[in-house]
Amino acid sequence: MELDLKPLALPGIDEEQRPIVIAGPCSAETEEQVMDTARQLASYGVRIFRAGIWKPRTKPGGFEGVGEPGLPWLQRVQKELGMLVTTEVATAHHVEAALAADIDILWIGARTMANPFAVQEIADALRGVDKPVLCKNPVNPDLELWIGGLERINQAGIKRMAVIHRGFSTYEKRLYRNLPMWHVPIELHRRIPNMPIFCDPSHMGGRRELVAPLSQQAMDLGFAGLMIEAHCNPDCAWSDAKQQVTPDVLDFILDKLVIRNSAQTTETLETLRKQIDIVDNQLLEQLAHRMRISREIGSYKKKHNMTVVQTRRYGEILSKRGAQGVLRGMSNDFVKSIFEAIHEESVRQQVEIMNKD
Ligand code: PEP
Ligand code: MN
Repeated sequence: MELDLKPLALPGIDEEQRPIVIAGPCSAETEEQVMDTARQLASYGVRIFRAGIWKPRTKPGGFEGVGEPGLPWLQRVQKELGMLVTTEVATAHHVEAALAADIDILWIGARTMANPFAVQEIADALRGVDKPVLCKNPVNPDLELWIGGLERINQAGIKRMAVIHRGFSTYEKRLYRNLPMWHVPIELHRRIPNMPIFCDPSHMGGRRELVAPLSQQAMDLGFAGLMIEAHCNPDCAWSDAKQQVTPDVLDFILDKLVIRNSAQTTETLETLRKQIDIVDNQLLEQLAHRMRISREIGSYKKKHNMTVVQTRRYGEILSKRGAQGVLRGMSNDFVKSIFEAIHEESVRQQVEIMNKD
C-alpha cells in the first residue's frame, strides 16, 4: 500500500537542514525540571522539546509519568520559549488530552507500535485531525508490523508523519540496550522513500557515551533527524538516568556531528550499498561468533580425548545447510561451498586449541 504523505511542515523548522533535533527529558518530572531543561535547550538553539507525560514502564511500581498535570508545563514551554513540544501517546485518552492541550507533535512509543489494537485505537482517535505523528519502530524487528502501524495512522488521515528508529530489544543485553539493526530502517527507506527517519540514539544505546557515535552513524546513513534525551540533572532523572545527557553535552555532541550530503542521483545505489556493508559486517560478526563456539568445542574434545573432525556431524551440516539455502533461493552448491570453507576454518581453530598446552 502506498502511503499518502505530506511534508512535516513544522512551524519555524527548516526540514532540509539535517539533523532536525528533538530533545528533552525522558519524563516530565516537575514543572521546574521541565522549564529548566527546556530553557537550557532553547538557549542552544533546540526548537523541538520532548518529554514523556505517560511513561510505559517494564515493571509496575516504577514512575509511570506525571500524567495530565504535566500538560500545562509543556504549554509553558510553548508559550515562554517558543518551542514546539511533543509527547508520547499510547491510548485514545492520551490522544484526546494531548490534542486538547494543543501539543504540537505526537509520538507513538515502541511498545505501543508492537500492538495493532493499540495503534488502531490511536488512529481512530486521530481521525479528522491534522497533527504530525512520529512512529517509533516496534520493540521487535518486524518491518511489516512497523509499516502496518504506519498504514493504520495514515489511513486515519494523518499525512504529516515520520518514523523514529530506536533499535530492537534482545534477550541478551550487550553493548546496546536496543540493537540498531540499521538494515531495517534502510529497507523502510527503500520501501517508503519520502518518510523522514529520525534516530533515537538514547534508547538505542542505553548509555550516554553511545549517543554521539550512534547519532553520527544515523547522519552517515542520511537520516533526517535525531530524538535525544536531555535532562538538566541526568543522574537524578526519574527514568532512563544512564542514557540522558545535559543540554550542554547535547550541544557539544551536535556540534561535533559531521553532516555529509549524499548525492541525490545515486541515492538508491548508495542506500543499497550501505545495506550491503551492514549485512557484510553482520556476517563477519556471526562468523566470529561461530568460531568462538568452535574453539569451545575444541576444548571440550581435547578434554574428552575426541578427534577434531567428527565425519558424521560434518556430513549432516553440509546436507542440512545446502537444503536450507535452497529454501532461501540460493543454489545448493553455493551454500555447500560456503560451509566447506567455514568448516575448514573451524577445524583450523580447533586444531590450534588442541595444540595449545
Ligand atoms: C521514550 O521515548 O521515552 C520511550 C519510552 O521510548 P521507546 O518507546 O522507544 O522505548
Ligand atoms: Mn526514555
